[in-house]
Amino acid sequence: MPNQTPHPVVLDSVTRLHGTGERAVRALDGVSLRFARATMTAVMGPSGSGKTTLLHCAAGLDRPTEGRVVVDGTDLTGLDEHALTLLRRDRIGVVFQAFNLVSALTAAQNVALPLRLAGRRPDPGQVADALARVGLADRAGHRPGALSGGQQQRVAIARAVIVEPAVLFADEPTGALDTGTSRAVLALLRELVDRHGQTVIMVTHDPAAAAWADRVVLLADGRVADDLDGRHDAPAIARRMADLEVTA
Ligand code: ADP
Ligand code: MG
Repeated sequence: MPNQTPHPVVLDSVTRLHGTGERAVRALDGVSLRFARATMTAVMGPSGSGKTTLLHCAAGLDRPTEGRVVVDGTDLTGLDEHALTLLRRDRIGVVFQAFNLVSALTAAQNVALPLRLAGRRPDPGQVADALARVGLADRAGHRPGALSGGQQQRVAIARAVIVEPAVLFADEPTGALDTGTSRAVLALLRELVDRHGQTVIMVTHDPAAAAWADRVVLLADGRVADDLDGRHDAPAIARRMADLEVTA
């Protein structure tokens, strides 16, 4: 990986209001977090606690009302839309619960898409490598409709990491998958971290998914309510979540 920034993502006192005046919702309220390179962080919290807003602000898909976000050493605050689009394209990977693949394109064409959008001619070897990395070398010519949910999510991950982003964001990446398939996707994310030095930030409500992470950040009411360093098992994470829901 070309990127050597020790903290590919930094949030500094990030506040995000939705709406204005008396009806404004404080989705994030002064959140400061640093995410270390080659680690996997799970962001958890009750529904409405600000998880998606945090991910969108950190991925340059939304702008904070106050505070700043620094990705791969670049402060997003001062960037105009064009510069932000380029940074998102070249340095940030995102995967979603619903995979968001282009149904008319094959797996290989989907994976090559970010390179094409960047005006680069996709090198077939690079696309084949990306598919091999997610265990789908033999599915290159399949369209999404001919792949299982887990396979589609793995194609989406290959597409997200083919540009070697400084950070890979995932919003409920296993939310639409069964337990066994979820494990395969989580094992893949883990492998990207451990073998390829990828930084992963994953939003999840599932303690079993968060148990794969090196760190669990718990949000409540738009604030960091807890920050668990190191691996924790699912029951321990579930207990901490339950404590939060009671006090929230
Ligand atoms: P989570 O992902 O943890 O469920 P969100 O980040 O989606 O939480 O939402 C945090 C809070 O901000 C919630 O109260 C939600 O209703 C509110 N919110 C999120 N997006 C918008 C929006 N576009 N307009 C108004 N309120 C929003
Ligand atoms: Mg959400």
